[in-house]
Amino acid sequence: MSFTIARTVEDALAAIAAGARPIAGGTDLVVGARHGKAALPADLVAIDRIAGLDEITVGAGNGGVTLGANVSHHAIEHHPVLAGSYSALADGSALVGSPATRHVGTIGGNVMNASPAMDTGAGLVVLGAEVELRSVHGTRRVPIGELWSGPGRTIAQPDELCVAVHLPQPAPNSGSAYLRLEYRRAMEIAVVGAAANITLAADGTVAAVRVALSAVGPTIVSVTGLDTLVGSVDDVADAVAAAASEQATPISDVRASDRYRRHTVGVMARRAVVAAARRAAGETIAIPVNRTLGIGAAS
Ligand SMILES: Cc1cc2nc3c(=O)[nH]c(=O)nc-3n(C[C@H](O)[C@H](O)[C@H](O)COP(=O)(O)OP(=O)(O)OC[C@H]3O[C@@H](n4cnc5c(N)ncnc54)[C@H](O)[C@@H]3O)c2cc1C
Repeated sequence: MSFTIARTVEDALAAIAAGARPIAGGTDLVVGARHGKAALPADLVAIDRIAGLDEITVGAGNGGVTLGANVSHHAIEHHPVLAGSYSALADGSALVGSPATRHVGTIGGNVMNASPAMDTGAGLVVLGAEVELRSVHGTRRVPIGELWSGPGRTIAQPDELCVAVHLPQPAPNSGSAYLRLEYRRAMEIAVVGAAANITLAADGTVAAVRVALSAVGPTIVSVTGLDTLVGSVDDVADAVAAAASEQATPISDVRASDRYRRHTVGVMARRAVVAAARRAAGETIAIPVNRTLGIGAAS
């Protein structure tokens, strides 16, 4: 049993190569262990004190943004570039847990924990994010949609650390949104969630749309068959709602039946398309969409 505090990425990689599990904010790992979900791993390496891993770099790689793995949900929610140009991600981070959870919980922990109900995943998919995985053997970049292989599982090797999440520059005239159905306003996870990224043509119709769903399958669901979908925002939103409900494979549990989830994810996907289109048209809808538009739990 060991607990190491890494000060550099290299320290962390060496500890992980020797069998330790990384711990960032601990809001999944430690809280899960306390709730009896899984015992704490015998060997842990704390990565929260690694210098630079909590930085947000704007203008990285062809004008995109790079988030260090330890960037907190609070930092994402309040970053002007992320809130303005990568709104679906900021909408998701702003919904995570409580203010305390958002200060401590990290983007790296959220994506590597691989919950299908995670609130940043759908936004990252529609924004075309890639994760950077590093081990003592080298570095690779993986499209975010290929990272998750099942509930709580990723394709990362046990000795790989997520060091960054890369976001490409958004297309001109585009906007995005993530929203979720929830039963209460805080300390809740999504009953279902949906993110949309919309690009508008000069006449205000939809020229391109990407949609992804949370909590309706073993991993985040990227809605397919939308590549040629164009037209009025209303028509596109209707088509997306139908596709989302059809492609969702939800389970029934104590929080909702599979039928209810299948129906409501279509409703959420429709609303995500409309909110994203409004943002693409230049309207400011404050982060998170859920609170601003009164979606989800009542106040
Ligand atoms: C009260 C409460 C409410 C919550 N509400 C929400 C919510 O509404 N929405 C939501 O999405 N989540 C929610 N969560 C879950 C959690 O806060 C987030 O998933 C958070 O982003 C996890 O980050 P962390 O740094 O705390 O991860 P940790 O607990 O430190 O780690 C989580 C997992 O990822 C691994 N890991 C961490 N960092 C890395 C890395 N850089 N590279 C490789 N592996 C890594 C760890 O080994 C572990 O397996 C909630 C948690 C709590 C306790």
